[in-house]
Amino acid sequence: MTRDDLRQYLEFYRDLGLKEIYNLAPAIPRSARPAGDSIAPTSRGRDAAGAVIPPIAPSGDSLLKIVEDIGDCRRCRLSEQRSKIVFGSGDEHARLVLVGEGPGADEDAQGLPFVGRAGQLLTQMIDNTASKEGIPIRRADVYICNVVKCRPPENRTPLPDEMEICGEFLFRQLMAIRPKAICALGSTAAKALLATKDGVTRLRGTWHKWRDIPLIVTYHPSYLLRPYNQNAKREAWEDLKKVLHYVYD
Ligand code: SF4
Repeated sequence: MTRDDLRQYLEFYRDLGLKEIYNLAPAIPRSARPAGDSIAPTSRGRDAAGAVIPPIAPSGDSLLKIVEDIGDCRRCRLSEQRSKIVFGSGDEHARLVLVGEGPGADEDAQGLPFVGRAGQLLTQMIDNTASKEGIPIRRADVYICNVVKCRPPENRTPLPDEMEICGEFLFRQLMAIRPKAICALGSTAAKALLATKDGVTRLRGTWHKWRDIPLIVTYHPSYLLRPYNQNAKREAWEDLKKVLHYVYD
């Protein structure tokens, strides 16, 4: 493992919110990996006790491999009541990734992110803003996913351990896509990606970074659906305009 590999590895676990690292076994036994998985033994390091340290992501990682690794995931309690795992949708080579909190009822039923009322608003926001600004993209040109892939019961906020466990897949998605920018929708996504306790009001309006990728924070569309949020709506359109111009100009 090179110094850069080690730095990336530590950054990965820091982003997951882990402060101490013990002997970590590979998440998925080698024998259970799909044929052709390109993780080579030489790509792994060992800690002081000789335990194998998993790489931050399999070399040549792709969304397909991540889906295969998720499988019929039972890694956290959110698996208990879900109907479908909601992995993400959009262009694997998207230059912009939008990250929400977790699936709702419609998403859970269809297995797709942002397909309910909030999703329709998000689609309108992307399509209309791009059209008005003369940017030739539609929703299908970006990639959309959530911090957790299974619906939390009663649409509650995901718990820290659920975000930590499922965050591994989100981070792998982001690393596999390597977009030009990320847009965090709502405070849960901001918390997962920036390890912050600050809310959207404080975080929006300026650029942040996830690893070396510029990141903007804006309101979650479900918050914008509430009738008294005219200011937030205006601000969200401004945020979207800013990130679309940054990515596509
Ligand atoms: S939320 Fe994520 S970690 Fe938890 S069961 Fe679903 S896919 Fe697995």
